[in-house]
Amino acid sequence: MTASAAHASSLGAYTTLRLGGPAGTLTPVSETDEGVAMMRAAARKGDRVLVLAGGSNVVIGDEGFPGQVLLLRTRGVRVVERDSRGVLVRVAAGEPWDDFVARTLADGLSGLEALSGIPGSAGATPIQNVGAYGQEVAQTIEAVHVYDRADDEVKVLSLPECRFAYRSSVFKHNDRWLVLEVDFRLAESAESAPVRYAELARHLGVEAGDRVAAERVRETVLKLRASKGMVLDPEDPDTRSVGSFFTNPVLSAQEWAAVQDRLADAGEPPSWPAPNGTVKVPAAWLIEKAGFGKGYAGRDGVAISSKHTLALTHRGGGSTAALLELAREIRDGVRDRFGVVLHPEPVLVNCSI
Ligand SMILES: Cc1cc2nc3c(=O)[nH]c(=O)nc-3n(C[C@H](O)[C@H](O)[C@H](O)COP(=O)(O)OP(=O)(O)OC[C@H]3O[C@@H](n4cnc5c(N)ncnc54)[C@H](O)[C@@H]3O)c2cc1C
Repeated sequence: MTASAAHASSLGAYTTLRLGGPAGTLTPVSETDEGVAMMRAAARKGDRVLVLAGGSNVVIGDEGFPGQVLLLRTRGVRVVERDSRGVLVRVAAGEPWDDFVARTLADGLSGLEALSGIPGSAGATPIQNVGAYGQEVAQTIEAVHVYDRADDEVKVLSLPECRFAYRSSVFKHNDRWLVLEVDFRLAESAESAPVRYAELARHLGVEAGDRVAAERVRETVLKLRASKGMVLDPEDPDTRSVGSFFTNPVLSAQEWAAVQDRLADAGEPPSWPAPNGTVKVPAAWLIEKAGFGKGYAGRDGVAISSKHTLALTHRGGGSTAALLELAREIRDGVRDRFGVVLHPEPVLVNCSI
């Protein structure tokens, strides 16, 4: 298909929040080469391009994006290698993520089952090292195929070059690369990877570290996610969100001790040990204890989800400005109560909090 540029009335139509103003031009791209050509031409002119795929992790300002928007719609999944280390599957960036996960499981491949039900595209998963229920894509990604604007070259980045961390990578907040394809190394097995997440293990009736049928993990994760409004459902306004709006803060031992001092009357929060002696604290707990419960409403059609404290939702008739005002109110409330600054998880385009 030849890319066709069109003036778009509202980018909100391409986001799960259903918020965001107009684009300069909007170009759907269904062939990888077209994407590279578009990025290359823009790089030569020094123009910025906004890459949009599923629109499930972006907050776009009410003014929109005045430049070119590349709407990534490439498709394709193929096995490129099978050896003693497992099966290497290459997926085009525009492939819908959950369709890909379902397909790997149907093909008897495990490793992505706990990431079932996450909206968006396969190519966006490396951007923030997508994770849920004890799995993250950094555990199975072997390489990421990119177009590098800076060097005007198609390259293959190895796992260390991607610099994956908690909800982060070399790609996040950096428009140098267009992700073209992603290589996942999966196990040829009907059994899941070891179940690592306590809540998931409990619902499966197993101990953390056990393996069960990978399809059972998928079914259980989909149910758990749906109960929290974390699977897209056009009928459910609690899913009109970007998923978690804030990342879970990772605190140094000192910062954690200071928070615990302030916690005396709030009770001990759940926490997880993180690398290098740090502690990860659930943002949802801090938000609730700071006085922002489920359903807490901001002005003009935005509110905290009625099912999950970490999801800010657009109930209809709202604006990005109103959503960000609510986000600021929550961030400032948590900072005043606990001295912890929450950071947004989605990419903010032409707006800030
Ligand atoms: C209900 C709900 C639940 C969610 N649950 C989770 C969860 O459990 N775990 C989790 O980690 N995330 C979760 N998310 C967030 C989101 O689904 C993921 O981050 C997803 O990977 C975003 O994919 P996308 O295609 O929609 O990206 P988009 O929103 O289109 O883009 C996100 C960012 O990535 C960039 N980008 C996208 N594709 C490319 C590409 N090919 N090359 C270069 N840059 C690119 C964009 O420019 C933008 O900066 C959830 C979101 C929602 C709405």
